[in-house]
Amino acid sequence: MPAGENKETRKEVEPQPVEALTDRDAEAIRRLLGQGSAHAFQSIEDVARQTGLSRGTAQKVVAFLEDHRFVVPDHEEPWSLRVNERRTCAIGVSIRNDQLIGVITNLRASSVLPPEHRRLSSTGVDAVVRDIGSLVLDLLDARPDKTEAVIGLGVELSGHIDGRRGAVVYSPDLKEAGEPWRHVALAELLEQETHLETVVENDANALAVHEQWFGDGRDVDDFIVLLIGGEGVGCGLVAHGNLIHGVDGIAGEIGHWVMDPGGRECRCGNRGCLERFVSAQAICEASGWPSQQPLEGLKVAAEGAREGDDVAMAAFVRGGEVLGRSISMVLNLTNPSRVILFGPPQLTDPAAEGEPARRFIQTVEEAIGQYSFSFAAWRQELVPKAVDERLGATGAASAALARIITQPNVLSGQGR
Ligand SMILES: [Zn+2]
Repeated sequence: MPAGENKETRKEVEPQPVEALTDRDAEAIRRLLGQGSAHAFQSIEDVARQTGLSRGTAQKVVAFLEDHRFVVPDHEEPWSLRVNERRTCAIGVSIRNDQLIGVITNLRASSVLPPEHRRLSSTGVDAVVRDIGSLVLDLLDARPDKTEAVIGLGVELSGHIDGRRGAVVYSPDLKEAGEPWRHVALAELLEQETHLETVVENDANALAVHEQWFGDGRDVDDFIVLLIGGEGVGCGLVAHGNLIHGVDGIAGEIGHWVMDPGGRECRCGNRGCLERFVSAQAICEASGWPSQQPLEGLKVAAEGAREGDDVAMAAFVRGGEVLGRSISMVLNLTNPSRVILFGPPQLTDPAAEGEPARRFIQTVEEAIGQYSFSFAAWRQELVPKAVDERLGATGAASAALARIITQPNVLSGQGR
């Protein structure tokens, strides 16, 4: 399907302009959508009660959601409303090295189809934009109900991303003629390519938005998301209910905290950065099993540690200690009540992976307790979660949904 057809589809179902929403309304929508999938609201009063809004404001928010078919009458009980789970809403794309993973989701960022995988034809800017455009068209084509407009595209990747401007400031993974990407206005290029409102966000920040809207951050205002990847460590900070970007989008880059100035050389040019202790690659190297494919290598290292390899087990414990020390620094800095730790199952899923993961998490918790100041560690709760292949793309879709749903001017066709 050519790109133009999608634009037409959007126009056919273009909603009427609605009254602008305030930040408080947006917060109410977040709480309303964050309810479980079986949840229905029995009346406007019920919505008001559950979101803490006045009746008038609840009415305005519900009218907005109904206009876009985000909520629909519950067929079994005609007087009640439920979130329209079947309405396809967003596309999320994750860029990982030379791969794209794409999902098409409903309003809760739940993927309605199996994820699509693509190998990038090259990591140059034009090729990446073209490849994402083609993936988006295929996902639009595959969706079960083509009468509903998809409202936005979210793209996530690691590196220095200015999420508010949708720009890749610096990406060591994506190279144009051998040089890392610098200052690429990726959201703008993708909007031209796909005709979809586009949000580009750092991978850990996109996950933080996902957790805030649909995951383990729904009930707290202050939490952090940590993401341990193949080569790096990312962090998304949510304080007082807001994702913190900082002036240039660097906030949360704890992967390059120098934990040991005499440590191993890092791709950033310094030595002993956090990610040189706790990424999959770092643990593989310290285990004595360096690997070109760190996430695969980590499975081998974990197997070795389970079978009694002391060097491998020491690498898991050392990684946990340095990570826990880093988390204590974040606790002292922002005082969150929850730390959501995403990582490969060999690090974050002791029930499935056994001793190396158990020792890793245990050491993280011990180091947090030892190094945090005063009460900082007492009330925080560590929630380890294993990453799966669709997580990044789901986070990207969430980042798009969260931004676009709360900007009604975009939804009513008055945006860019
Ligand atoms: Zn570094």
